[in-house]
Amino acid sequence: MKALVYKSTGSWYVVKTEAGQVLNARIKGVFKIDGITSTNPIAVGDEVEVETENEGEGTVMITEILPRRNYITRQSPSHKKQHHIVASNLDQSLLFATLRDPKTSQGFIDRFLVTCEAYHIPALIVFNKADLYKKKEQEQYEVLQAMYNDIGYTTVLMSVPKGEGVEEVKDLLKDKITLMSGHSGVGKSTFINSIFPELKLKTQDVSGWSGKGMHTTTFAEMFDLPFGGKIIDTPGMREFGLVDISKQELSHYFPEMAKRINDCQFNNCLHINEPGCAVKKAVEDGIIYEERFFSYYKILESIEEKEY
Ligand code: GDP
Ligand code: ZN
Repeated sequence: MKALVYKSTGSWYVVKTEAGQVLNARIKGVFKIDGITSTNPIAVGDEVEVETENEGEGTVMITEILPRRNYITRQSPSHKKQHHIVASNLDQSLLFATLRDPKTSQGFIDRFLVTCEAYHIPALIVFNKADLYKKKEQEQYEVLQAMYNDIGYTTVLMSVPKGEGVEEVKDLLKDKITLMSGHSGVGKSTFINSIFPELKLKTQDVSGWSGKGMHTTTFAEMFDLPFGGKIIDTPGMREFGLVDISKQELSHYFPEMAKRINDCQFNNCLHINEPGCAVKKAVEDGIIYEERFFSYYKILESIEEKEY
């Protein structure tokens, strides 16, 4: 029987069968997938094959994982070299950002975008808490919006209490599997709970089953949207890993740079101070935003540090 993984804690899972039955699931033995050593072999979003384990108890055994279209990982908090697959089979990833209370930095937004590009997952940015924006933040938003739209990213200005932008975000989520991310405090839960009250009940149902001592908030979880589509919430996960990106690759994940790197004089150009660099020229000519180049430079530096 085919099923979709809605929740994964690393030792037990919640799956939903094609017939819509929600079941608790376990795995038998060790799963090795694609040669990846992962601390959690099965992730939210995985399509799996399940077999009935105990008739009547509603538990099933996962016997097979179907090939993943894509996945997103982060570094395991305890073993830096191990990756942890956060979610798979995503249609898009939505970042919640705010320009006040708290302020999301542009560097953080750009790292998120680079990660999505590296995993070939389309990215969207919602600027939430618009009702708190004064003239300064309003202007900042306009600058960021123009910049990101120019590069090709969709942005939405939203205020949950005012209902502004909410319909637009719902339209973007409809019939897609969307990973939600962003700092804590940016309004992810408020958005989910206020827009989909039924969802809140479902959350409580599922975590009620998990038993005592379970920190349900640290695991990714998928929810069905009442109007079609699914969202994956990743509470407590600030950032996904730029783990596998090399210095040489990085500019490929800035779309406005990627389309110019073939014009650089050297094919191993890092776009710092090499002669004949088409990327630097585009920055000087005001075609590539300086702010984006600055993010590129900061990420490049962080990759260098890791290689020591
Ligand atoms: P999460 O950690 O991303 O899930 O953030 P929460 O949903 O817990 O929201 C953090 C705080 O921001 C709460 O006090 C919310 O009431 C508040 N909040 C969420 N969305 C908005 C918004 O659009 N405008 C304002 N002013 N406050 C908001
Ligand atoms: Zn270059």
